[in-house]
Amino acid sequence: MTGADDLKALVRTIPDFPKPGIQFRDITTLLLDRSGFARTVELLAASVGGPVDLVAAIDARGFAIGGALAEKLGAGLLLVRKDGKLPGASIAEDYALEYGSDRLTIHVDACTPGARVLVVDDLIATGGTAAATVRLVRRAGGNVVGARFVIDLPDLGGSAALRADGVDAVSLMSFDGD
Ligand code: AMP
Repeated sequence: MTGADDLKALVRTIPDFPKPGIQFRDITTLLLDRSGFARTVELLAASVGGPVDLVAAIDARGFAIGGALAEKLGAGLLLVRKDGKLPGASIAEDYALEYGSDRLTIHVDACTPGARVLVVDDLIATGGTAAATVRLVRRAGGNVVGARFVIDLPDLGGSAALRADGVDAVSLMSFDGD
C-alpha cells in the first residue's frame, strides 16, 4: 500500500522555478501515478472526520485534488477561480504575493449559508491563497470545517496561521527548510 512517504517520493522538485531560490514542489508527477493519485485522495478523505457539503478547490492544481476528493466525500465542488474567469456575479478577495497581489473569486450564489465547506489545494506555503479562500467562503455564509493540502511548507507559516484562525488544517506531507 502506498503510504505518505511513498507519495512524497512521487513529488518532483524543480529548483529555481518560477524564479531563482524557489524549490517548486511539482505534484504533476504524483497525479500521473495511478496508485499514488488514488492513495492521495484516500488519505485526504480519511483525514476528514465530519460531514462536508462542499469542497472549495483552489485554481488550478487544487481542482484536480479537490474534484476527486469531493466525489469521494459525497460533496459538491465549489471552484475558487483566479480573477476574470467566472461568468456570473462574483465576490473577490485580494491577497499578497511576494511582489504585488492577486485576486480569487467565487460566484455570489456558490455557497448556501451554513454549508460545511472544506478548502482544498495542492500546497500551502505562506497561506495567503488559502486565507483568501477562507474569507470568501465565510463572506458567502459558509462554515469552513477544515482545509486539506497534499503538501505543507511549514517554515513559511501558512498552516500555523490557518490553525490560529480556527481552521483545522491538515497536510499529507511536508518539506522543511523551504
Ligand atoms: P501561499 O499562498 O504562499 O500559501 O501559496 C500557495 C499557492 O501557491 C498554492 O496554490 C501552490 O500551488 C502555489 N505554491 C506556492 N509555493 C509553491 C512551491 N514551492 N511549489 C509549488 N507550488 C507552490
